[in-house]
Amino acid sequence: MNRRDFLKNTVKGVAGLGISAAAIEFLNPKDILANINKDTAKVRWAFLVNTYKCVGCGFCVKACKQENEIPYDANVTRTWVERYVITKDGKRYADTPKGARDGFITTKIEMGKDKFQEVKDEDIQKAFFVPKLCNQCENPPCVQVCPVGATYQAPDGVVLVDRTWCIGCGYCIMGCPYGVRFFHPKYHTAEKCNFCYHRITKGLKTACVQACPFGARQIGNIKDPNDPITKIILTERVGILKEEFGTKPQVFYIGLDREVK
Ligand code: SF4
Ligand code: SF4
Repeated sequence: MNRRDFLKNTVKGVAGLGISAAAIEFLNPKDILANINKDTAKVRWAFLVNTYKCVGCGFCVKACKQENEIPYDANVTRTWVERYVITKDGKRYADTPKGARDGFITTKIEMGKDKFQEVKDEDIQKAFFVPKLCNQCENPPCVQVCPVGATYQAPDGVVLVDRTWCIGCGYCIMGCPYGVRFFHPKYHTAEKCNFCYHRITKGLKTACVQACPFGARQIGNIKDPNDPITKIILTERVGILKEEFGTKPQVFYIGLDREVK
């Protein structure tokens, strides 16, 4: 299922459900702490998305494309932003036009090629933006299914792809439950976010973190108790996507609505 199908199904699947305003997903801090302390590694990169701060401007998506050699006009992105609109009668709409590369420049919601849905302001119960990227899963199914070891996990937890080993079989693209992988239009190898590994290992922030004017994205070392990220993750209500898959994402969300898939 591609990203567009996923969004269409999300819309279909939740239409008609009543959405509680308090339906926010969060983890037990004791479980997070136990997981942090279960090994002696000094670095484990973790990412924090604050959905309350994201305004859907798309600066992060643009910056990522430019930083990571993803063709600007191709409809593929390593990171993207989804818009969710929930109406008072319980319908839910979600879209991500061009991955939100240009932000959300119209109030019309994209429902497929050349299909749009208008929702009147007075019918909206709530609307919000959710940035997405590779979750750098602690238990990554994409690594397990790669037949040639081209996808692997670094000791600091980041899942990497070696373009020179990738044979383009696509197993990892099918194996990722989050739909974050795609074929690179030029190299025809598996592609995804790697937390800007070339930057973070030199002490820089990821391109998207640097580009976000509102601080909706942060990255840090969850093994360091003094890292601002660690403090936030252990003291605020944070959630992860698709916890039920047991993949243990290292991308944490503040304000994650339960219905976000
Ligand atoms: S989000 Fe997908 S691509 Fe990223 S580590 Fe998890 S399974 Fe692999
Ligand atoms: S740059 Fe920040 S505010 Fe703008 S869309 Fe990205 S995460 Fe949201």
